[in-house]
Amino acid sequence: MTRADTPTGPPPWRLLLGYVRPHRWALLAGAVLSLVTGATGLALPLVARELIDDLSHDRAIGRALLLMTALVVANAALGAVGSYVLRRTAESVVLGARRALSSYLLRLRVAAVDRSEPGDLMARITSDTTLLREVTTDSLVGLGTGGLTLVATVVMMGLVDPVLLGVTMAVVFGAGTVLGVIVPRINRASRQAQDAVGAMGASLERVLGALRTVKASGAEQREERTLHAAAEESWRQSVRAAKWSAAAGNTAGLAMQVAFITVLAVGGARVATGAIDVGTLVAFLLYVFYLMSPIQSVVGAITQYQTGAAALGRIQEALRLPAEPRSPAAGLPADGAEPAALAFTGVRFRYADDLPYVHHGVTFAVPPRGMTAFVGPSGAGKTTVFSLIERFYDPESGTITLDGRDLADWDLARLRSAIGYVEQDAPVLSGSLRDNLLLGNPETDEDTITRVVKTTRLDGLVARLPDGLDTLVGHRGTKLSGGERQRVAIARALLRRPRLLLLDEATSQLDAVNEAALRDTVADVARTTTVLVVAHRLSTVTMADRIVVMDAGRVRAVGTHRELVAADPLYAELAATQFLAAAD
Ligand code: ADP
Ligand code: MG
Repeated sequence: MTRADTPTGPPPWRLLLGYVRPHRWALLAGAVLSLVTGATGLALPLVARELIDDLSHDRAIGRALLLMTALVVANAALGAVGSYVLRRTAESVVLGARRALSSYLLRLRVAAVDRSEPGDLMARITSDTTLLREVTTDSLVGLGTGGLTLVATVVMMGLVDPVLLGVTMAVVFGAGTVLGVIVPRINRASRQAQDAVGAMGASLERVLGALRTVKASGAEQREERTLHAAAEESWRQSVRAAKWSAAAGNTAGLAMQVAFITVLAVGGARVATGAIDVGTLVAFLLYVFYLMSPIQSVVGAITQYQTGAAALGRIQEALRLPAEPRSPAAGLPADGAEPAALAFTGVRFRYADDLPYVHHGVTFAVPPRGMTAFVGPSGAGKTTVFSLIERFYDPESGTITLDGRDLADWDLARLRSAIGYVEQDAPVLSGSLRDNLLLGNPETDEDTITRVVKTTRLDGLVARLPDGLDTLVGHRGTKLSGGERQRVAIARALLRRPRLLLLDEATSQLDAVNEAALRDTVADVARTTTVLVVAHRLSTVTMADRIVVMDAGRVRAVGTHRELVAADPLYAELAATQFLAAAD
């Protein structure tokens, strides 16, 4: 996601208000509390004056002291409660944004994720949302309280002398023009700083995801430079934002000084002509002085908002990535549900508009039950067939039907609940081995687990692991070998009792003994389930009920091993070389 293709949309503050809306009363309460805290602080000098005036009366002193103590305590207590309520509300806004974003990212279309940096998306959920905290409190509350005071002060000034108010406003508008130039620069710099944090996330993900390869290639120093460059870029842009923020704050300060001098000059002239009296001028000057703090807090709110708007913009971009429709979780098919029938008709597909076609009119049909093997050189489009069945992508033209019904007409969750999919290089997720096995069907009973663990030949592994099924595997747990990972993935898919089982080179890393055992298991499953396998071992391919030979995005031939060896030269060659070579 680059800045160049950033679409324009509703302004970021709309998104912010959406996250703030559920907490508006708490936010208002916090703002009122801080206003009251300020008021109790302001009352203190008045009480002090009373105290000094009444020094001669003992009882009055006692009362005033009591009142002052009460005010001080109330000030502290209200201040504490107010800042707690504000901070808590701001954290709730961050929570809301993080929840919304993580739900959304889980629903992203695979195609959208293909074209994004996972590390950058992660930064949008973790780091960009954090910035909403300050925006909520400092910007919204600052704008609210500062704006309120500002309006009240301006009204008072207008009542005192409209002409001097005009003079003041002229200066304020002058400063506003300068701020209009500065403020977008804060936004731009903040945006670039956050983009750099995203780039850093992406680089980190790249390095940590391939740490062994980076070390083995001796590329640490080069990767270090990339990481440092991203960190430095974020620093550079944040410093630029700080520079413009400082300029904005001081522009506001300068404007008030200029307004003071101008009002003094114009007001003096008006006093000389007798238009106003000295008392009016002094009162007005006092108001100009009072204007300072709300103006500064409004300008502060606006500059602070620029950082938040940059973050909101990045969040908004993530929320614009294409996502799958929200559909209610679908239960798994009932036990003994009919196996699925599948058909591709003239499917044309490419991964993106600017990429070449991967399928040029793929057509084949698979009846319920039995095993269908897909063979062909690497890059032929076999894995893509499975991705299309799972609707990770949709074909550009042509149709795919399951049970005679177009995939597009299926409820997505229901479609996927019918399928067990072992992807090529299926990963193990961090967690216990049991979590991994039950990922697709948490309801499985213990007997079924034991049975599937046995049929997928995982029983040896389970017996060996210190805590059996509850041993942690994945990132922070026991590392599994490639063959073990594949067997876990197959068991995971089988436990879903699928009506359609997709195995993509699912046994490529198994040793001969395990491979033969798994072949029997799959043959067994194929009696009651439709099984599609991408395979390269002759032993697996020959036992298939039909073989689909793919080459360069087309189906070359369909038949049994015997038929194809005689009829299809590519298949005959594959059978003679690749399959045999892989078949131990
Ligand atoms: P096979 O499984 O037969 O080896 P694939 O279906 O994985 O082939 O890939 C077919 C073609 O599509 C290859 O040229 C591959 O580079 C391309 N391809 C696969 N996945 C993607 C993707 N996510 N984005 C872009 N191109 C892809
Ligand atoms: Mg493949």
